[in-house]
Amino acid sequence: MPNDPEERYEDSQLYRIRHSAAHVMAQAVLEFYPETKYTIGPPVENGFYYDFDLPQPITQEELEKIEKRMRQIISGGYAFVKKVVSAVEARQVFKDQPYKLELIDGLEKGGLDEYGNPLAEKPEISLYQSDTFTDLCRGPHVETTRQINPSAFKLMSIAGAYWRGDEHNKMLTRIYGTAWKTPDALKQYLLMLEEAKKRDHRKLGKELEIYIYDEEVGPGLPLWLPRGGVVIEELEKLAKEMEEKAGYLRVRTPHLAKEDLFLHSGHLPYYAESMYPPMELEGTKYYVKPMNCPMHHKIYGAKPRSYRDLPIRLAEYGTCYRYEKSGELFGLMRVRSMQMNDSHIYVTEDQFEQEFMGVINLYKKYLDLFGITKFVMRLSLHSKEGLGKKYVDNERLWLKTEDMVRRAMTNGGVPFVEVANEAAFYGPKIDGQVWSVIGKEFSLATNQVDFAQPGRFNLVYMNKEGVEETPLCIHRAPLGTHERFIGFLLEHYAGNFPVWLSPEHARVIPITDNQNEYAEKVVAQLREHGLRVSADLSSQRMNAKIREAQLMKVPYMLVIGENEANAGQVSLRVRDGSRADNIPLAEFIARASDRIEKRSGEL
Ligand SMILES: [Zn+2]
Ligand SMILES: [Zn+2]
Repeated sequence: MPNDPEERYEDSQLYRIRHSAAHVMAQAVLEFYPETKYTIGPPVENGFYYDFDLPQPITQEELEKIEKRMRQIISGGYAFVKKVVSAVEARQVFKDQPYKLELIDGLEKGGLDEYGNPLAEKPEISLYQSDTFTDLCRGPHVETTRQINPSAFKLMSIAGAYWRGDEHNKMLTRIYGTAWKTPDALKQYLLMLEEAKKRDHRKLGKELEIYIYDEEVGPGLPLWLPRGGVVIEELEKLAKEMEEKAGYLRVRTPHLAKEDLFLHSGHLPYYAESMYPPMELEGTKYYVKPMNCPMHHKIYGAKPRSYRDLPIRLAEYGTCYRYEKSGELFGLMRVRSMQMNDSHIYVTEDQFEQEFMGVINLYKKYLDLFGITKFVMRLSLHSKEGLGKKYVDNERLWLKTEDMVRRAMTNGGVPFVEVANEAAFYGPKIDGQVWSVIGKEFSLATNQVDFAQPGRFNLVYMNKEGVEETPLCIHRAPLGTHERFIGFLLEHYAGNFPVWLSPEHARVIPITDNQNEYAEKVVAQLREHGLRVSADLSSQRMNAKIREAQLMKVPYMLVIGENEANAGQVSLRVRDGSRADNIPLAEFIARASDRIEKRSGEL
């Protein structure tokens, strides 16, 4: 639903619409509050914002007034006219706008763009004017304001934001808006937001007792509760089954290693910012691992390998630790400890394409299983200018591996979009973006083709001619990390996990105390058959017990009264509201076991 995955957002018409709408909003705000100092107004995911230093606070109600004025401006059909100027001219235009003057300094010195973001080359200074409003801006915009649909945008909210994101600076007023091509797209987006609020994994994670955070444990370090633990176990079981069939070998590696390992791998110093600080023991520094790769490389290198041994696929649900700024931590989506569905596959160049397809096919099976119908892979490539700086200096291998990946994805019918100059240091990178059933976008999985790390670790195999060669390494994590993936699944299913993933398959609900004994027998029998089940033996009334089970989104409720107890039956109430009264216990067991075994989405 939201953005067209085949196109880069920055190149899209929506990006232009949103950015142009930010200009129109700023004009309206300046008309109502002429004393306003304005700062920056970039497009963001699903919309735009503009940060203002307002002479007075504004309220949510005032947004309507601003929207109304925006519609008038839009109907004026004003063109966005570009003018390239010198820094001196720009300072004249913005002489009463201190924030713009600061931005002009940045532009003039080079190294920063008009939003204050780092920039490789020194930019030209350009202004864009539409109607009475002029902004310091590089574009792009729509041609005239009339290309912003007046019924397809909405001002959403007001928030505080520090100038340049720095808490030592002044707090500004940020107005968020959303803009779409059509009123229908706007309506759909607003509905999605409504639904997304209900599905927020932080809310569901708490209600369904999946995970918690604890002050004393620390930020970004989730504690998985027993129910979350079940989901984790099931995902690992799935991964292990799939990987075993695909010829993976499981390994286990420690959570920390000596500094030397990370110097060798290049994580130090290049990745040091994302690592926890070292601890010192017996005069040696140790780091908790930010990635599993170096340890897997060591396992590969532990004995001589021949071309006949390859591909070698080492897999581990490894726990990694990365430093994320406190302000950036977010539920299960951005954390500091994470367990990754990791693997490193060592292949010869000849084996690469087939092996890579194997990985892609694994992805597809998972997408299918989880009912993810919309996905796209982002293939990040190197840039010629970056060779030897940002990227390993081996153009031949870059071009070759990029081409191999491209071919494999095309042959496999995988939708993908290419992005220049965003590869990993050591090879092209493939990120998996998926959309949940309500159309919310997540980036989940990554794949990397690595032709540098195996060399750094002197990994070799003996080729047919008896000559040593360096293998390629595929890093892959189709199920991403438990943290992010379970966060995604909570929102995707709105907490209604399919039976096989449900922390509790069934809850037995006796109508009165008289059936408690039979209830316990039922529990014991179901457990014999591998079902996760509990009995609610509390003194509450039946309806209250049912409500509680429903709140926990338990797929099956087994109500038992006197008749059921006497006949060895149960009355089944299913999460979707359907019922089957007085069925033999064996019939229920068969039904539930079938769903679990097939990992079916049916109840
Ligand atoms: Zn602009
Ligand atoms: Zn890796």
